[in-house]
Amino acid sequence: MERKLVCARCGKTLENKETYFAYFGHQLHTDLPCCPQCGQVYVDKELAEGKMRNTEAELEDK
Ligand SMILES: [Zn+2]
Repeated sequence: MERKLVCARCGKTLENKETYFAYFGHQLHTDLPCCPQCGQVYVDKELAEGKMRNTEAELEDK
């Protein structure tokens, strides 16, 4: 399911962009909606936790 997200500041449609972030000492990358104008990354809480869980499972598999 894809939702259209817009930047609260710019009103621009957010674009998925590969974003690096640190999580419990791991450097992870995932596609997150990002404002093309101001670079604000939108992380939906449920989405983030879902991705975290998936990533965590992947890490444990290795
Ligand atoms: Zn913006």
